[in-house]
Amino acid sequence: MRIFIVIAIFFSVTTIILSQENSSCGTKVPLGIIPEQVKSNNLDLFENTNTYNLRLAIHIVYSQNGNDSITNENLYYKLQKLNYYMEQAGFSFYEFNRNYIESDYFANLSEEKIDSLFSTFYIDGCINVYFVPVFAHNGWSSFSYRFGVSPQGIVVINSAHETTLPHEMGHYFDLLHTDHIWIIEEIPGVLDSLYENIDRVGNCKNCDSAGDLLCDTPADPSRRMKGSLVNDNCTWNSSRIPPFDECNNNNYDPLTDNLMTTELPRICRNNFTSSQIQRMRQTLIEYRGGAA
Ligand SMILES: [Zn+2]
Repeated sequence: MRIFIVIAIFFSVTTIILSQENSSCGTKVPLGIIPEQVKSNNLDLFENTNTYNLRLAIHIVYSQNGNDSITNENLYYKLQKLNYYMEQAGFSFYEFNRNYIESDYFANLSEEKIDSLFSTFYIDGCINVYFVPVFAHNGWSSFSYRFGVSPQGIVVINSAHETTLPHEMGHYFDLLHTDHIWIIEEIPGVLDSLYENIDRVGNCKNCDSAGDLLCDTPADPSRRMKGSLVNDNCTWNSSRIPPFDECNNNNYDPLTDNLMTTELPRICRNNFTSSQIQRMRQTLIEYRGGAA
């Protein structure tokens, strides 16, 4: 009995630690996926200056009373900001299709309903984006099929910040959170996690197989610490002691302005790194050519 209680407490604590999501982004790497399966190889091959025009299927989800659909003004603002933030990656999006979904069931969205939503209304050849009135997170995205086959789409809550759709679009093109933690093994009493180390050279270097799998995004311990660590001036708050990495270093200097951080305030998020851009282009070319 005592062992059971200890295990139960352990799991509640680890669940709380690992589910801390300051940006309230619901996007998750499917269970069982390991870094080796989904990392990029030679990203230099995808360094080019082409602009890609990509089709969006916009799905506006609302309940029967009809008062909770996204307004045109809000929608166009979010799409304009999507293009603004994604221009640095050479991605340009245009509305190819619009679909109105009157459904009390989907207007009050939960994680359990997402696969059904994506499967029911999917329009082939487009990036399917669903604007919903109620959801537990601000956004959610599927990854490409290198993470496995799953229903495809992006969800954004109507009240989301302007950086949420570009952030989810980053996931759609296989970017991970800068503070991503890989759960290597989850068995009772053991939670074996892979953390990204700070060092970029030497034996401790693991940036291409841990964290977000990219080396030009510094190790980010945010998910292992409670509460936001970025202040209103968008500066990393180093006054709190971060956990040590696997090589006993804790002199972290994570990005605070990157679109794939989960830290608040969201207004700080505005850019992608070169490797993130190349990984998105690689994903488009190798896994998501249908949207171009
Ligand atoms: Zn996210």
